[in-house]
Amino acid sequence: MTNTPSTDRKSFPRRSAVGVVLLIFLFTALLCLVSLWLTGFAAGGKTPSGSLFSDPATAGLLASAEQAIPSGGGDTQQAVRPILRVVMDPGHGGEDGGAQSKAGLYEKDVNLSVSLYLRDLFEAAGVPVVMTRTEDILLYDRSVNYQGRKKVLDLAARLTVARSVPDSLFLSIHMNAFPQTQYSGMQVWYAPGDPRSQELAAAVQTRGLWLDSNNKRRIKAAGDNIYLLHNLDTPAILVEGGFLSNPEEAEKLGTEAYQKSLAFVIFTGVMESIGGGTA
Ligand SMILES: [Zn+2]
Repeated sequence: MTNTPSTDRKSFPRRSAVGVVLLIFLFTALLCLVSLWLTGFAAGGKTPSGSLFSDPATAGLLASAEQAIPSGGGDTQQAVRPILRVVMDPGHGGEDGGAQSKAGLYEKDVNLSVSLYLRDLFEAAGVPVVMTRTEDILLYDRSVNYQGRKKVLDLAARLTVARSVPDSLFLSIHMNAFPQTQYSGMQVWYAPGDPRSQELAAAVQTRGLWLDSNNKRRIKAAGDNIYLLHNLDTPAILVEGGFLSNPEEAEKLGTEAYQKSLAFVIFTGVMESIGGGTA
């Protein structure tokens, strides 16, 4: 019995240690419960804007995208991604000259020249540009059997480029021709697969009035005869810059000054459409 007091004295700190361990255990359990509850809360989507801003990388991307080109068009759709880049597509090239004027001006050359002016304008405005071609060539793969398939392979290659550039506008440049020589004027076609294409086409067609205030041409949805526009479900337009079959218009289209003017009206229309409209 003599050791009783000492036993009591020893048992007091032991009980105290057990209590502390128990407290720590309870506290940890509580933390676990709280974190589980929070996880369930977020996963349940009870914070409406949580998913948009939860990822700082995405939020940063959105912010920089808005800085690059203020989003304004296409407000009828939810979560429309901004157009951040342009794929410039000078039609034809190499063996495929496209239309030809009576004086011998080839469409492929006018297309490339106007497209290069457009590239300079977009780059000056801070919009990156990818060119489908910068030389007088068709884009078929020289390592495959291309006999009789050059044009098909060329179009497929252009489609591949267009699809490889995210958040881009595909902008194809062509010149028109018609058996009767009186027809003239710029006309814009659009890809029906994306509603923004029509808005872009309308903006460019309207700016075409700067070139010719009497131009009564209207924008048109591309059918399956315009392969690239028909097969793209991203923003895409094709500008027929004018008629090489019209001698007066062909003469203008052959000059550097008119090519630059044409590039400028197309550029302005596109920027108004993707930049929210400044006119
Ligand atoms: Zn063409």
